[in-house]
Amino acid sequence: MEYQDSEKAVEVATRVEAFMDEVVLPREREALANDEVITNDEIEAMWEMAKDRDLFAPQMPEKYGGQGLDFSDMLPSFEQVGRSLIGALSIRANAPQEGNMHTLEMVGTDEQKEQWLRPLVQGEISSGFSMTEPMQGGGSDPKMLRTTAEKDGDEWVINGHKWWTTDGLTADFLLVMARTNMDAHPYSGTSIILVPTDTDGVNIVRNIPHMGGHSITEREGGHAEIKFENVRVPVENTVGEENEGFQIAQMRLGGGRLTHCMRYSGMAERSLDIAKAYLSKREAFGDPLAEKQSLRHKIADAETKLHAARAIVRHAARELDRSEARIEVAMSKTYTANVTNEIIDLAVQCCGANGIGRDLPLAHFYEDVRTFRIVDGADEVHRRSIAREAFEDIKEEELEYICRFDTNRQMH
Ligand SMILES: Cc1cc2nc3c(=O)[nH]c(=O)nc-3n(C[C@H](O)[C@H](O)[C@H](O)COP(=O)(O)OP(=O)(O)OC[C@H]3O[C@@H](n4cnc5c(N)ncnc54)[C@H](O)[C@@H]3O)c2cc1C
Repeated sequence: MEYQDSEKAVEVATRVEAFMDEVVLPREREALANDEVITNDEIEAMWEMAKDRDLFAPQMPEKYGGQGLDFSDMLPSFEQVGRSLIGALSIRANAPQEGNMHTLEMVGTDEQKEQWLRPLVQGEISSGFSMTEPMQGGGSDPKMLRTTAEKDGDEWVINGHKWWTTDGLTADFLLVMARTNMDAHPYSGTSIILVPTDTDGVNIVRNIPHMGGHSITEREGGHAEIKFENVRVPVENTVGEENEGFQIAQMRLGGGRLTHCMRYSGMAERSLDIAKAYLSKREAFGDPLAEKQSLRHKIADAETKLHAARAIVRHAARELDRSEARIEVAMSKTYTANVTNEIIDLAVQCCGANGIGRDLPLAHFYEDVRTFRIVDGADEVHRRSIAREAFEDIKEEELEYICRFDTNRQMH
């Protein structure tokens, strides 16, 4: 399928595809077949290969060691890395590191970029993004954020309780969302503060046990529950403007949601590739399964929906280059999350018991993709925004006509 990607985007994605096919997927298959863990040394060796092939950190400017691609140009490469369980990691384009790099690059000070961004891009350090809080705090409704940062001289004093901070166990620093002006609405009184994890008062409570926790690499940063108890960091650790944390998080999440969509589209594509291969080899009731019309129709629908997802995400990416594109991103995220969930579920079904086993990556994909309907805004939250916009656009003529059926003939 052609998607009007730029020449540059296609050229890089073709090279990423070759890297996946030649280096990453063979090692992934071998690790799955032999129940092996891919070591940190192996991942670092892949990074060196990715650097040699000019594929490393495509989302970052060249001066930090990345490839300097603009947003639309890097998207097709994210789709390619999504095909493997270790694809994004193998070129240092994995969440949440990619989003944290993006945030620091967008709004960090020169000093923050030198001290934290440069080594983060190179993989010398790791990071986490701490926004979500337990029960009474911020989750789907981020206005409920309870973590606070109060100024004491030239320091922030942070107190709060976060959970689900991805890679929190291995992070060298966290980007923490905290209320910094309790008198203001949370949207105009919240900041992002960079907190090194070795600061006194940063207490990692636990790694939250979760569905999909079967990493095939040594690099498992977990999903951490963290308490911040009188944590003191310099005021210059504020990332971006003070009290503009939500605006910055929104910028981070807009692009981040689309890179997620592309990674998960790649995962769905690989799942379909595996399912089609299995169906064409496996026979039942006298024919290859690939000849069964009921299955062929399901594969046809899956191909159609995956194509639609790729198109809607690319459209949102083009809009995002021009504007906030909130609704386009919400539509892309919700649609792609549901379609990739459906497709990976179908692939599991098509492969029978092999879909459940861990010789294939499908069981990993299946567990992983389920989170996509919740993280980066649950389905319902995005639908809420889409519906709000949809109802703003009720046509006057239709309202008038509908009012004919109102026995009181009243317009509302
Ligand atoms: C694997 C994983 C990784 C994560 N990584 C991070 C991370 O790195 N950093 C971080 O800060 N957070 C992270 N999160 C947390 C994630 O961002 C939150 O789970 C998400 O924002 C939803 O918040 P919640 O879990 O508090 O759900 P809740 O707010 O408790 O909502 C529960 C459910 O209610 C429904 N719902 C919510 N609002 C509405 C509505 N208006 N109408 C109808 N239904 C609604 C939705 O179905 C939602 O799933 C991660 C979560 C997971 C599972």
